[in-house]
Amino acid sequence: MRRALVAGNWKMNGSQASIKSLVSDLLPVLANGINGVDVVVCPPYPYLGQVAEAAFGSEIVLGAQDLSEEASGAFTGEVSGSMLSDFRVRFVLVGHSERRVRCGESDELVAKKFAAAQAAGLIPVLCVGESLDHRQSGHAEDVVATQMTAIIEQCGVKALEDAVIAYEPVWAIGTGQAASAEDAQLMHAFIRQVVAQFDAGVASGVQILYGGSVNADNAEALFACEDIDGGLVGGASLNAKDFIRICQSV
Ligand code: PGA
Repeated sequence: MRRALVAGNWKMNGSQASIKSLVSDLLPVLANGINGVDVVVCPPYPYLGQVAEAAFGSEIVLGAQDLSEEASGAFTGEVSGSMLSDFRVRFVLVGHSERRVRCGESDELVAKKFAAAQAAGLIPVLCVGESLDHRQSGHAEDVVATQMTAIIEQCGVKALEDAVIAYEPVWAIGTGQAASAEDAQLMHAFIRQVVAQFDAGVASGVQILYGGSVNADNAEALFACEDIDGGLVGGASLNAKDFIRICQSV
């Protein structure tokens, strides 16, 4: 049985004041954990320490939104995996489409970040997903298979034993237009099949989250699907009530 996981990706949102109030609204319900669900929040870098402190001793787990592929040194503006570990961060997103598109992150760089995360003892949350063009032209599966295979070839399939996959169709992110539970399930099963070509055991054990306009109303149907093990939630994770409802929908 795979455990469920819900991760909130706060992206570049918030201030000390708003994050203080968000965390204090989450704690009464999430501090003692929700049965069978791991709950992760991914604040922007400057607020990691604040959230680590505010959530200390609770079941809320800290994640980060990115990391450098380098371990340390003269890399101005970069943040290493060991720095994240130092702040009790346990998960880190790699290959989010906003970074693939905006920052030109290639599959090769994403694989390096994935490896750097694991080298620092972090659990990478590998984001994959197709654009609208790719979906409309019938290439969604090819694109996702290529993104998955790049990581498996560079890091080895066993690396997925200590990782999480997030399927995030680019056209569903921040658009209010989530994939239907049926379409999402099909792609999740396909991703598991891609991994199974390398190792069936790893494929059946790896958690695959769905991301892209998850909200308090659609979460239950998505999470009920056989191959959907939880969600990566952007916009709706900034609202404590919505995020809590989503966590309770597993
Ligand atoms: P969204 O973002 O829930 O706002 O669509 C999801 C994500 O980008 O991780």
